[in-house]
Amino acid sequence: MRQDLEPGVADILKKASDMVPLEREDALTLMRVPLHTAGCYALMETANRMSRSEFGNKGENHFHIGLNVEACPMDCLFCSLTRTAGIFKEKIDFSMEQIIRWAKAAEQQGADALNLMTTGTYPFKRLLEVGRQLGEETRVPLVANTRDISHREGEALIDAGFVGAYHAVRLGEGRDTPFNRNKRIETIQVFRDVGLLWMNCVEPVGPEHSDDEIVDLMLLARDYGATYSGIMRRINFPGSPMERFGMISELEMARLVAISRLVMGDVPQAHCTHEPHSASLMAGANLFFSEVGSSPRDQQADTGKGRGTDVTHCRQMQLEMAWDPSLPSNCFEN
Ligand code: SF4
Repeated sequence: MRQDLEPGVADILKKASDMVPLEREDALTLMRVPLHTAGCYALMETANRMSRSEFGNKGENHFHIGLNVEACPMDCLFCSLTRTAGIFKEKIDFSMEQIIRWAKAAEQQGADALNLMTTGTYPFKRLLEVGRQLGEETRVPLVANTRDISHREGEALIDAGFVGAYHAVRLGEGRDTPFNRNKRIETIQVFRDVGLLWMNCVEPVGPEHSDDEIVDLMLLARDYGATYSGIMRRINFPGSPMERFGMISELEMARLVAISRLVMGDVPQAHCTHEPHSASLMAGANLFFSEVGSSPRDQQADTGKGRGTDVTHCRQMQLEMAWDPSLPSNCFEN
């Protein structure tokens, strides 16, 4: 089979298997491997093998709680929570009781982490309070997903019980969002400086993104030492300004998951994909996000009643693909 691979691909797969860091050109060569070819399946096989051996067959499940719904004035083009999308007119702060109920249910179902997401203008102090209270109510590690922060705010997250922070430089940052790419990278550096684990995903991928843009973010994740960094596709809500570009398929996502896995080498403790689907579980992904509360991909205020998948279903999908969700998380143990 290997003799049918595109020129150079077999060497790159071998290099990645040996945990030699890939060069930008290597990653770009992999981006040109088409679906449905021997090269593509060899790429997925290599990524799958790397993840199963590096992560000890652990299936990870991190539980997203979107703490609030608000017509967000930041107006990122891919997000359903924006002012311009016009989907959400009412402001909702999910109650502490509700958040605790969600967190405890996720803990019982075996969640490995709680990711607390806020919209762009959510009060930072309130996020700290929620973290403190959840720390008293559950034993699940806390990950913050909020705006750019300073060193002082990073230390405050740690004091409030957070062990990590999700923060992505998004595809089209500064073009499809009002944010500055460099400022977002500075925030990632803040996490490193204060001792918060950095969680990442290359997102939100659409068919219009160039190989260069995507590879840039894969390399950023490796070079800044992300705890995990897989692939999330953009979900186009009805009326989304991105609708004209379409969406990538789960199969295409699996191909990109495999490439990003090879780029990450021996850096990560897990490899994510979103939304949960089986194809990427045989292409190097082992981490799913189940979701409740607000979501930038949904038209429901509580995505648990919409697109969100619960922990039990995510675990079942992993078991079907021979990942073991009952093992301890690798993300927080090491
Ligand atoms: S992605 Fe975040 S900051 Fe951007 S519009 Fe949506 S909620 Fe606001």
